[in-house]
Amino acid sequence: MTPAPPDTSIPTLGPCRFPSPLHHFGTVEAPFKTETDRILYHSHLLEDGRDVSTPSYEEAGPREKIYFDPPKTTVGIVTCGGLCPGLNDIIRGIVMRCHHQYGVARTYGFRYGYEGLVQRYGHTPLLLRPNSVEQAHHFGGTLLGSSRGQQDIGEMVDTLEDMKVDILFVIGGDGTLRGAAEIVKEIERRGLKKAVVGIPKTIDNDIRFLDKSFGFETAFDAAVQAVKCAYVEATGAVNGVGLVKLMGRDSGFIACYAALAGSNVDFVLIPEVKFELEGDGGLLESLRLRLLKRRNAVIVVAEGAGQHLMETGDATDASGNKKYGDIGQFLKDRINGYFKSRKTEVNLKYIDPSYIVRSVPANAQDNVYCSRLAQSAVHAAMGGKTGMLVGRWHGSFVHLPLELVIHGRRKVDPTQELWHSVLECTGQPAVMK
Ligand code: ATP
Ligand code: MG
Repeated sequence: MTPAPPDTSIPTLGPCRFPSPLHHFGTVEAPFKTETDRILYHSHLLEDGRDVSTPSYEEAGPREKIYFDPPKTTVGIVTCGGLCPGLNDIIRGIVMRCHHQYGVARTYGFRYGYEGLVQRYGHTPLLLRPNSVEQAHHFGGTLLGSSRGQQDIGEMVDTLEDMKVDILFVIGGDGTLRGAAEIVKEIERRGLKKAVVGIPKTIDNDIRFLDKSFGFETAFDAAVQAVKCAYVEATGAVNGVGLVKLMGRDSGFIACYAALAGSNVDFVLIPEVKFELEGDGGLLESLRLRLLKRRNAVIVVAEGAGQHLMETGDATDASGNKKYGDIGQFLKDRINGYFKSRKTEVNLKYIDPSYIVRSVPANAQDNVYCSRLAQSAVHAAMGGKTGMLVGRWHGSFVHLPLELVIHGRRKVDPTQELWHSVLECTGQPAVMK
């Protein structure tokens, strides 16, 4: 049976009455879009060759008529959750577009995530102007700061009301976007006309219904450097083992791509594929055989892999996300113990580059990608769209309803091509049990 197409309709605040200032921008007419400009959801025909419902996304881009009157419009930006390359690029892009293209009255940057929207924390918002963000993209991190931890939705919307913020841009991961969806509901409940537009952040590239997330390419570049260093360490010692822990709480895309980038990886361990340590087919014995054959080995493990092997308990972080056990440190200890018990020399070097990978400045590809995401977000919000986020699908920038993406993540499918390519290039056993 054909799966039901996703509901891709985007809520709007109401009719657009103001001519876009982009009419007067330079000598070239802006490439205005209408809601009938759509990007097809399926890039392949369905199995039976029919695509009855032809689901599609609204195409991002400037609208001829906009909802907000720019000189009377106040914008807010907030970044939440963990760091990811490109955050500053997005902030910069939003500030530049709002100021130069639309001429909005003011743009505030809320400090330290959702805390910045709660007045009792006392984090004074920054008034952002082009010269405050001009250089921002040369640096990693977020110039606004970030935080975790649940905040009261009512208090946050109070702040938006008090500061007369018309548009809130929210940059963050799944938690942040769930928060944004709650803010939208509260805004609706109060009968306010405020737009909330998200720019999804996930260094793991695991957002469903999207081609790729910003910062992924930069993070991936940095991750590959770490894996290459692990290989150098592994080849420089008798029975050298380079062990690298990469990001990927629930999805192992970075680990998979790092192996495919020609970094001589022998084992890739991801959350989607269960493995065991002990037994003839387990990781430890497979590693011993690999060392016998090659004298060295590189293991790349995603942070969410092998959690069933450890006692992890129920601890959570400030936002309520489950705290994962440190699979890197755990594997290091178990591998060293295994070879020690067999009286075999092993030289294991453990590299955990997480904080370096997260905090590097975006590369040129991501500079461009972030800038275009920011541009799309500003056009959408000025057009009165809300409860949505911007992303790329089949190479085009599109609008997606928030509700569509906040439930569930994209994962590596062990039956599909990507994982098979990983198995081919590592030569690791398909099953390690
Ligand atoms: P990362 O991928 O780096 O973890 P994230 O956006 O998922 O990014 P979180 O710390 O989980 O990071 O969440 C960011 C913010 O969103 C926190 O302040 C958190 O309390 C808030 N949040 C998460 N879920 C909800 C929700 N259902 N309702 C309201 N706020 C939420
Ligand atoms: Mg998260």
